[in-house]
Amino acid sequence: MTEKACRECHVLTAGSVCPRCKTPSLSDDFSGRVIIFDPEGSAIAKSMKIDKKGRYALRVR
Ligand SMILES: [Zn+2]
Repeated sequence: MTEKACRECHVLTAGSVCPRCKTPSLSDDFSGRVIIFDPEGSAIAKSMKIDKKGRYALRVR
């Protein structure tokens, strides 16, 4: 199962659309994975404007 990253919000998904923003704009060219458990208390989540827990790519091309 290949994961792709959403170009809009960087969420990782194995589906064909982003589960968050419903866009089909996904990329398999991404680097770095972060798992956000606590969006409120995470500096990474804040800098990436993530407000939901989940798995995200650091960089998406
Ligand atoms: Zn998205």
